[in-house]
Amino acid sequence: MEICPHNECTGCYACVSACKHDCIKMEEDELGAIHPSVDDDKCINCGACRKACPNNVSLDFKYPTACYASWITDKEKRRICASGGIGTTMSEYVIKNGGVVFGSRYNESLVPIMTFTERLEELEHFKGSRYVQSLVGRDTFIQVKKFLINNRLVLFIGTPCQIAGLKSFLKKDYQNLITVDLICHGVCPTKHFTEEVDYLAKKYKLENIADARFRGNDGNNYRLTLWNKARRKLFPGNNYREKLLRLSESQQFYIWGFLLGVTLRENCYSCKYARPERISDITIGDFIGLGKQVPFDYPKGNVSSVTINTEKGNVFYKSVSDSNDSLINIERNYEERLEYKPSLVEPFHRHPLSSTFIEYYKEEGYVMAIRHTLKDYLLNRQIKLYLNYWTYIYRVPRKVFKIIIGKNGKR
Ligand SMILES: Cc1cc2nc3c(=O)[nH]c(=O)nc-3n(C[C@H](O)[C@H](O)[C@H](O)COP(=O)(O)OP(=O)(O)OC[C@H]3O[C@@H](n4cnc5c(N)ncnc54)[C@H](O)[C@@H]3O)c2cc1C
Ligand code: SF4
Ligand code: SF4
Ligand code: SF4
Repeated sequence: MEICPHNECTGCYACVSACKHDCIKMEEDELGAIHPSVDDDKCINCGACRKACPNNVSLDFKYPTACYASWITDKEKRRICASGGIGTTMSEYVIKNGGVVFGSRYNESLVPIMTFTERLEELEHFKGSRYVQSLVGRDTFIQVKKFLINNRLVLFIGTPCQIAGLKSFLKKDYQNLITVDLICHGVCPTKHFTEEVDYLAKKYKLENIADARFRGNDGNNYRLTLWNKARRKLFPGNNYREKLLRLSESQQFYIWGFLLGVTLRENCYSCKYARPERISDITIGDFIGLGKQVPFDYPKGNVSSVTINTEKGNVFYKSVSDSNDSLINIERNYEERLEYKPSLVEPFHRHPLSSTFIEYYKEEGYVMAIRHTLKDYLLNRQIKLYLNYWTYIYRVPRKVFKIIIGKNGKR
């Protein structure tokens, strides 16, 4: 039985959670992406799964009523956050007010999952963007519902398709539920990520990997980095040879497959949530294009965009802002953020190399396929980086020399 068309399925788990007879499990398709599979022998054809699927119900999208460029000034708190630290700030507020926060973190096997916390100290594990599908699991939406029925304040931060799955599973609005979606480029299947980490661990003899990061305010932006529990970076290597030859950049196959749109889940290339109207109470993302239309008189690096999409979101975000002196919100025109189209106006485009990747994938699996697909691209990139690096190294002493000569000349 098909719950929704294969190419529309986001792997959100709403159908799995809705089936009271436990007859749906997730299976990987030929490209490693998870999809539901129904055990027809157990199924009683009640239709609950189909009714819970966001692809079979009409969804309520709202055009934002306000848009902010936002960030927290507490640099230490923000260090490993994806951009402005807004997801973390809202999570802190909810926990301090007796609520529960759902979001993405790694489990003990370094698999990204959607789970919850009620403890401030655990928020460290939820910080940052995991550029991979974070698995919702059978029980997550059921747990959300239990907390809501028990009148707890619940904050759910996730991709728009996860929020849509949660809403179509719940079937009604709860005043004590705040949903926050991310502006979403797409996700790579979880299997790609776990295979990449296993491969790197073996190749570079990395032990006790406890964290994998993709973004941050600590100089590790848009690269896959692996860390141990003591927060020592294990990959890329930090040795002199690697730094000098820029070798680490040539190993960034995973992140470039993601960023270029080579390895995303198939349904992400036609995502129905990539539009200006939003599915959640609040939307957070990177404020790309900030200051291009109207000057922005603050540092622009890693500033978040926050849009308020419902009155409930408005009241909540006002309370968060009023309670936190470190949170800066500068009101901006939403059209300014919409200028940068991918993910907010239309789905991210599939890269021409995606078909090459798919062919290789079917033959040799993720790790070799992405390397064969992007080998030349990354080699060219590495040569450019290498040349820029040495041109820079060469230019600095020349510039200093010119300044000295210039000064001497004036004298
Ligand atoms: C897969 C993905 C694609 C994205 N694409 C874009 C984009 O195209 N354009 C854009 O402007 N912004 C994009 N973002 C959002 C951006 O990277 C930041 O997450 C956002 O700016 C919030 O930053 P922050 O510092 O406030 O978040 P933080 O305070 O660091 O909090 C991050 C929050 O994101 C949640 N999260 C992290 N990874 C995942 C995941 N895989 N699935 C579900 N929830 C997750 C965490 O649970 C946490 O609550 C994307 C994020 C993800 C995860
Ligand atoms: S039709 Fe009912 S029993 Fe069958 S898989 Fe769907 S929810 Fe489960
Ligand atoms: S509910 Fe989610 S996982 Fe299930 S079929 Fe629909 S989109 Fe796919
Ligand atoms: S691009 Fe769309 S379908 Fe893909 S993960 Fe993001 S919200 Fe879901």
